[in-house]
Amino acid sequence: MEPNYSEYSTTELEDALANIDKESFPDRVELLKVELASRQTSKKSSLNADSDDFEPNEQFFKCPTCEKKIGFFSKTANKWGKTKTCPHCNSPFETSVKLKALAIALIPAFVIQLFILRPVVVALGLHGAISTGIICGILSLLSMRYRKVRSTNVT
Ligand SMILES: [Zn+2]
Repeated sequence: MEPNYSEYSTTELEDALANIDKESFPDRVELLKVELASRQTSKKSSLNADSDDFEPNEQFFKCPTCEKKIGFFSKTANKWGKTKTCPHCNSPFETSVKLKALAIALIPAFVIQLFILRPVVVALGLHGAISTGIICGILSLLSMRYRKVRSTNVT
């Protein structure tokens, strides 16, 4: 009867491959090699899922873990420091600035500031620089993302 190699552990497989009579059972050697190779790839992919394929789940003013909303003016959002704690599920998350989003928003924001905001601010009798400040604040707010903290970094 053919041994069922899929029930063997990886160590048992390696053992069997090392001790098998290769002359008498060439097909079993093949089976062992195939089984071992499949173990190695599945081991590799599970390792990748743990480390390299870390999914930060970037969210726009939402908790990256439970995906509940965190308000712009909530205590959590306005707390100082890079790492914050979700008020809903207590999971830590960090804020990051998405430079790509910032770059995309920069040109329309500049246009809005030049043709809409600045004239309004000036018409109100305020200094034009205030509109630049407002736009910068909105821009940094729009490009801000909350993402999961890599568990390996939490020590
Ligand atoms: Zn949460």
